[in-house]
Amino acid sequence: MSNVTQLLKQLIAIPSVNPLDADEPKWTHEGRICNFIKDWAEAKGLSIEWLEFTAGRPNLLVTLGPESANKSLMIEVHTDTVSVANMSVDPFEALEKDGRIYGRGACDNKGPMATLMACIDNELITQVENSDLQLRLAFTMGEEKGLLGAYELVAHGYTADKTVVLEPTGLAPVIAHKGCLTFEVKFNGIAGHASAPEKGLNAIEAAGHFMQRVRADEKEFAVTFSDEWKPSTSFGIIKGGSGSNIIPDECSLTVDRRYLASENIKEVIHSYEKILTELVAAAKLSSYTIIEQGEALNFFEEDEQSELVQQLQESIHKFIGERKPYGTGWCSDAVPFSTASKNVVVWGPGDIAQAHTKDEFIEITQLSLGESILKDFIISQI
Ligand SMILES: [Zn+2]
Repeated sequence: MSNVTQLLKQLIAIPSVNPLDADEPKWTHEGRICNFIKDWAEAKGLSIEWLEFTAGRPNLLVTLGPESANKSLMIEVHTDTVSVANMSVDPFEALEKDGRIYGRGACDNKGPMATLMACIDNELITQVENSDLQLRLAFTMGEEKGLLGAYELVAHGYTADKTVVLEPTGLAPVIAHKGCLTFEVKFNGIAGHASAPEKGLNAIEAAGHFMQRVRADEKEFAVTFSDEWKPSTSFGIIKGGSGSNIIPDECSLTVDRRYLASENIKEVIHSYEKILTELVAAAKLSSYTIIEQGEALNFFEEDEQSELVQQLQESIHKFIGERKPYGTGWCSDAVPFSTASKNVVVWGPGDIAQAHTKDEFIEITQLSLGESILKDFIISQI
């Protein structure tokens, strides 16, 4: 069994479900996996910082290379997984079958983590120690719910000139994430008896008109944006009505709007206000309120031509040929790190389509290719 495969099996066997997921307490928290990585790093004589800014939820920083180095590279990987509820495979057994390894975190994010750890052999350690590069390996908690560990590291100044955020990207560079804005629209109508709908103003119907208008207006996206990189809207929660014989005067709708760097959040909200104002003017609605839910999650964008992306591309090219950089609707720790690191890219083995699934797996070939590419890339930075 190769080192990377063995490491992945060991990592899968250590539960590290995000504690904000309601799983059994014995499976939650990131501490156990940090202990495993700490032992691994200590056995290699590497220096470690245990960064527990939130009690019980440590981050771990492993550093190689001279403190006085002029260049710094961070490779970051999150240690938490999503819930193991309703999985159809044993989440912690790390079953190997048909060239795949199954289990929670197999691709998100223990596969990429095993890839990173497998790269750090004695040859690479010696090369980095004798170079002008400081290599920082950041193992962060809480990515799946709020990118918490990454925000903590950035807030405490743990960054680098260049950052590679490991996630299952199919070994192609991810150079952008959409931002995410969540808001609730409250529709107010006029209550009345269901036998005379013309005398009331149905708030649920108003929500229906609104959703239709939003979808119709989205045809404009085709003009402003490209097909593969455009905003999106999803209607997630709708609540309204109190009885089949009553015209509802209240309805609320929660909207998830993914936005791009080229958009302005205020203008995005304004476009929805415009639709709602028109519905009021057309007597389809009495009044409305828009309530933004928390702060919008920021986007991330890296220049496709940046030195970091180009150098990663060269390493990818050596082993698997051309892989086109792309953007994603999902987000990662690249969002906080891009506020502090000059250059950030997201990359790693495995397919995001298998992340969070009931039979999560990673192809073993992805792991070994990932290891070769990542090692080549780290050496290129020395
Ligand atoms: Zn992930």
